[in-house]
Amino acid sequence: MFKQLENFHFHVPRFLLNVNIGVRLLTLMGLAASVALLLAAAGILGLAASKESLRSVYEDRMLPTQQLSHIANLMLTNRMLLQASLTEVSIAAPTGQHTTLVMNKLVASTAADAIEKNIDAISALWLTFTSAALTPTERILANRFSANRRAFVDEALRPAVASLRAGDYLETKMLASKAHALYDQAGPALQALNQLQFTTAQEAYAFGVRRYETTRLVALSALGVAILIMTWLGLTLTTSIVNPLKQVIAIFKQISSGRYDTAIAIEGRDEISKVMRALQEMQTKLGVNEEAIHQLAFYDPLTKLPNRRLLRDRLQRAMSVSTRNQLYGAVLMIDLDNFKSINDTRGHDVGDALLVEIAGRIQSCIRQADTVARLGGDEFVVMLVDLSPNEAQAELQAMIIGKKILTAISQPCMLENQPHHGAASVGLCLFLGQNATIDDLLKRADISMYQAKSSGRNALRFYDPKIQASIESRIALEVELRDALPNKQLKLYYQIQMDNTLGILGAEVLLRWEHPQHGLVLPDQFIPMAEESGLIMPIGEWVLQKACEQLMEWSTNPATERFLLSVNVSGHQFRQPDFVAMVSRVLTQTGVNPARLKLELTESVVLHNINDTIDKMKTLNRQGVHFSMDDFGTGYSSLAHLTNLPIQQLKIDRSFVRNIVTNHNDAVIVQTIIGMAGNLGVAVIAEGVETEEQRACLEQFGCPTYQGYLYGKPMPLSEFEVLAMQAITA
Ligand code: C2E
Ligand code: CA
Ligand code: CA
Repeated sequence: MFKQLENFHFHVPRFLLNVNIGVRLLTLMGLAASVALLLAAAGILGLAASKESLRSVYEDRMLPTQQLSHIANLMLTNRMLLQASLTEVSIAAPTGQHTTLVMNKLVASTAADAIEKNIDAISALWLTFTSAALTPTERILANRFSANRRAFVDEALRPAVASLRAGDYLETKMLASKAHALYDQAGPALQALNQLQFTTAQEAYAFGVRRYETTRLVALSALGVAILIMTWLGLTLTTSIVNPLKQVIAIFKQISSGRYDTAIAIEGRDEISKVMRALQEMQTKLGVNEEAIHQLAFYDPLTKLPNRRLLRDRLQRAMSVSTRNQLYGAVLMIDLDNFKSINDTRGHDVGDALLVEIAGRIQSCIRQADTVARLGGDEFVVMLVDLSPNEAQAELQAMIIGKKILTAISQPCMLENQPHHGAASVGLCLFLGQNATIDDLLKRADISMYQAKSSGRNALRFYDPKIQASIESRIALEVELRDALPNKQLKLYYQIQMDNTLGILGAEVLLRWEHPQHGLVLPDQFIPMAEESGLIMPIGEWVLQKACEQLMEWSTNPATERFLLSVNVSGHQFRQPDFVAMVSRVLTQTGVNPARLKLELTESVVLHNINDTIDKMKTLNRQGVHFSMDDFGTGYSSLAHLTNLPIQQLKIDRSFVRNIVTNHNDAVIVQTIIGMAGNLGVAVIAEGVETEEQRACLEQFGCPTYQGYLYGKPMPLSEFEVLAMQAITA
């Protein structure tokens, strides 16, 4: 039904849509009922008329016809009777030459009786006929017949009855012929009257038939017209419901397919119009919500710039366009310099305002087709499209825009009435077609941005694959470091420490990674990784364990029993709540004399959470463990702090030792450190001593203990033990 109506464009009068569907249906049903009633009434009336004409045919016309026929019969009978009685007479007297015409008395009297009776019957019938309502024509004919009948009766029959009774043959004969003549005179009027009855009956009949046919025609045409009208009404009504319903369905389909801008034409005020109105409202609300969801999903709420997701989307599209047109595109990663400190010192509102300002400035540097996105924090990405098909040209174009952005960002701006001079670092990489994934591109731009950042602020750097390679190998190394300890690739090296009398104090334990492919890896390359990944905890504990085991071994030999070992402790490790417990456990497990162990901490570690640090150091001090302040002089430890710290040794950083002979400043610093140690009553050792001049200088300044290449590089245990034996026996 719906399918058929789909292509059926039926005009629906507008007013109909203003009427409720219920009312519409009721009206249609009412109309149908009225039509049925009218049809039935017309039928009934038509039938009644037909019946009436039948009745008039029979009752009004057949009855008088019968009466008239009867009269005619009786009149004919009377004439016959009269004739017959004469015949009897003539047969009854056939004798002699002179026939005496004598009547048969019995026959004559019987005929007279019969005639008399018939006369009465005729009178009665005529009276009945004439007393009925007659038309003027009938009345004229009736009057004419009445006169004839009376003449027939009065002038012929009644005298004939008398002459019959009298037996007067001649008289009777004369009257019989008179009756014959009068009968003939009366006949036409009666016949005409009778004919008139037939004619009228025929007319009534014909009228009845016509009436029946008219009724049938009217009924059939009324039925046809009613069917047409009802069909039209039904179709209009159905269309007036179905069409809006189809529209509703179409709108629902649109909505479910994610479109909320379908124009809804609401024409009426019926139930469906109300549904459509509600639908329209719903559509608008859904549209608003969808817009909000879209905004949230694809845009940064603060700057209203596209977010990472939308950027990826656009990059994807830009890359396929670039595949087609073979034009280069570029990705610029922009990171504001010192943004964190603005956020921290001047508050997040100021930080936000700055980001919004910067977003606007970056946007003003690019074309319509390009995209600025904010990835979060102070990180912006610019995507440039449709650059040159030539790589060098494209690079130049991208660089010009990058510089423009840097200049825009470095323009001073007012933040809460205070001027701010911003700067940024920009990393840049090109793309052509799908020569790299989106992740690759973002990574490349990120790497070059970090390059820019580390090369000084307000800089721009192009992506360099070599740098990426080194980063990637670093990442690979990080993965391998996880297995270095279980795979026994970590080794302890020992660097000898001596005093000014060439007596051996012991050694500093330095970690080495014997990598199966890369050979010996130095701690500066992997300790930061271990710290980042948390691997420093198991590694640091292993170093301590090994060092203590070594001390135990040495303790059984009088030549080595007094050796000390310095173990480096990373800040991450030291800050563990169970650091002290871990050290104590290793000490008891190995049974080593804690006084043989020295833990090296750097200033930054010590100063981090000074009270906690002091607690930890004091606890271990009480167990006999000593502490050395590593790389001393490079940090910022104030004297006030130093006096509070339970330190037993200061280790002069090798950067001061390196130039102690040539650089006056460094010499002064070293002298100060040595003086400080003297005042605090702690020992002092210099690291990085490479030449005798440096050693002599240090000794002259009052530093009696040394570590450095002058005595030996960090070396495996076996070599160290050889070196130590030589020194002892020397
Ligand atoms: P550090 O504690 O300052 O160690 C001294 C560094 O100076 C060692 O580098 C050593 O080889 C080097 N060195 C010694 N004498 C000289 C010299 O005369 N001239 C020069 N130029 N250098 C000299 P290394 O072994 O590469 O260690 C680097 C850093 O790695 C160490 O600095 C230390 O901070 C860290 N480290 C080493 N082993 C461990 C460890 O087991 N645990 C922790 N947490 N850190 C460690
Ligand atoms: Ca050290
Ligand atoms: Ca050091």
